[in-house]
Amino acid sequence: YTAKSGRNTAVIFDEAALARRLEENQLSLALIVAVDRNEFVVHYQPKVNLLTGEPLGFEALVRWRHPNLGLLAPGRFLPLMEGPHLIRGMTRSVASIVGRDLRAWKDAGLVPGPIAINLPEALLVGEDGYEMLAQVIRENGLDWHDFAVEVTEDVFLNRNADHILETVTRFREHGLSVSLDDFGTGFASLVHLRDFPFDELKIDRSFVADIGTDTRSEQIVRAMIDLSRNLGKRCVAEGIETDMQRRFLVNAGCEIGQGYFFAKPQPAEVASERLPKGLVAAEPSMSAAARHI
Ligand code: C2E
Ligand code: MG
Ligand code: MG
Ligand code: MG
Repeated sequence: YTAKSGRNTAVIFDEAALARRLEENQLSLALIVAVDRNEFVVHYQPKVNLLTGEPLGFEALVRWRHPNLGLLAPGRFLPLMEGPHLIRGMTRSVASIVGRDLRAWKDAGLVPGPIAINLPEALLVGEDGYEMLAQVIRENGLDWHDFAVEVTEDVFLNRNADHILETVTRFREHGLSVSLDDFGTGFASLVHLRDFPFDELKIDRSFVADIGTDTRSEQIVRAMIDLSRNLGKRCVAEGIETDMQRRFLVNAGCEIGQGYFFAKPQPAEVASERLPKGLVAAEPSMSAAARHI
């Protein structure tokens, strides 16, 4: 509806926007108790060998089982988490679920490969993230290299970038792999790429989505693959949805990927069905053969 404001101009109230704000406010409130009520759920998406489809590990992706709205994707609620407190609680929740699932997989004789956890800045500036993982590992009798960590380029903008670097270095000293996530969308400069100690570079899916339709994106993808290779990093392509994209990436020299083409993020029970007993998660070699398939 409309309302008269001063000087005879009509202000239009956008009812849809208003409803959205209201819903966001309600979600923000519900988030405050979501941790205590154990409403967070973890789905797993495999990182696969692009040549064979063999799973090399998984990424843990949080979902929120809202009491009325059902399963919500992180895009719906992460932006509503103000302050580091909620995000810390949620991440702790995710890590302990992953710890339990890993234990169960191992007890069943399955070797799932490292499970990558997305660690936000809030957990990297201090000891929190490190202590959190150390505790989960202790409690479940796991090893550091059962886990991997994904950080986004935002960490470089943090005024505590030095502390983040320390945490990351500490993780790596324990043999845990660190990925730079969503590469190409944030603020990583080449200096960061040169100086930041990471193991894996993840090409953001916005570039992968353009393969086959936008030659500029294709050239950027090729350059990113070459760059990671020349820096001695693993390269992982996100968001592969078609076989054409898969083939392009293999030809360009990328050997690992994730995407709906292989598997969507799924609950632990479903994700583990793909794991043969005793499968050893192989470290994919940078084989020359793979580049020419
Ligand atoms: P991300 O870490 O870059 O994760 C990849 C996202 O791409 C996931 O979205 C995944 O479901 C989606 N995806 C994978 N393959 C495909 C594909 O083939 N097509 C399309 N269209 N999408 C694909 P999701 O699960 O909604 O997560 C979104 C973002 O939320 C993640 O991006 C990550 O930044 C954040 N996130 C997820 N879980 C956590 C968590 O436990 N902690 C933190 N701090 N952030 C998380
Ligand atoms: Mg990620
Ligand atoms: Mg990503
Ligand atoms: Mg992404």
